[in-house]
Amino acid sequence: MRFAVTTLGTGAALPARGRYPSAQLLNIRERLFLMDCGEGTQERLRMAQVNLGRIARVFISHMHGDHYLGLMGLISSMHLLGRNMALHVHGPAELREVIELQLRVSGTYLRFPLHFYPVQHTSGALVMKDDRVEVTELALKHRVQSTGFLFREAPRPRKLIKERVDIIPHYARRAVKLGEDLLLPDGRIVPNAELTEPPTPPRSYAYCSDTAQVPDLAPFLHGVDLLYHEATFTESLAGRAKETMHSTAKQAATLARDAQVGQLMLGHFSSRYKDVSVLLAEAVEYFPNTILAREGDTYEVGETGVQG
Ligand SMILES: [Zn+2]
Repeated sequence: MRFAVTTLGTGAALPARGRYPSAQLLNIRERLFLMDCGEGTQERLRMAQVNLGRIARVFISHMHGDHYLGLMGLISSMHLLGRNMALHVHGPAELREVIELQLRVSGTYLRFPLHFYPVQHTSGALVMKDDRVEVTELALKHRVQSTGFLFREAPRPRKLIKERVDIIPHYARRAVKLGEDLLLPDGRIVPNAELTEPPTPPRSYAYCSDTAQVPDLAPFLHGVDLLYHEATFTESLAGRAKETMHSTAKQAATLARDAQVGQLMLGHFSSRYKDVSVLLAEAVEYFPNTILAREGDTYEVGETGVQG
């Protein structure tokens, strides 16, 4: 059962140095979620061989162009490709106006239902929940309202012990995985503990898009397997980071350390950095298990962390 994130764009406001604006694709047990949708995202999705029709939900962090200017193009392509599955869009309330205006002036009547849900911008607020995942908000601090998203996998079923699988009739396997004892046809009862092992712990991923440092997020992020956090600048530009309400690599790493996350992934690199390894070097001093998001790479979020 997959839980993987693909980084489609790792650049800041200006697309430069082969880096695209922000977008990430999350695959949670084959349900696809898109986080942010900068210009060019649909091409990036095609390059990653993602079927646009399978994207179930889009989460937009804030209304700066490098995080959403690709959304109308994506919606338009979904329409032209004959999508009929509903698309759910979560984001700032203003985003709805932008979508509606563009559909109206182009005389477009979408072939699929588009449901829009404004965020509340409150850490811990529930965004959505289904049988595979629960999504909650993270209130970030930026020049405009910016919201991060925390994805927690739903508890997984217990694992059947290989040597005992044969005694469990097919019809009973689901119930046994959910913890029930097994009633055999001859009336004997086999306790669940003899048939199953504890499930793999649920996995979690946090997406902290554009933000100044927000130390109060630590309790909400406590123990997440993978934290993506923007790191637009190094500490030598801490003044610029403060002015533009972005974070430095050190600030991102400090939060990762305080929240005791499994691994930190940095992104949203300023176009001034040709070589982004300076950001990594700064972060690992405060939080060693840090990686840099690389364009187009997929990372498996797992029990033992992340393999690139
Ligand atoms: Zn921004």
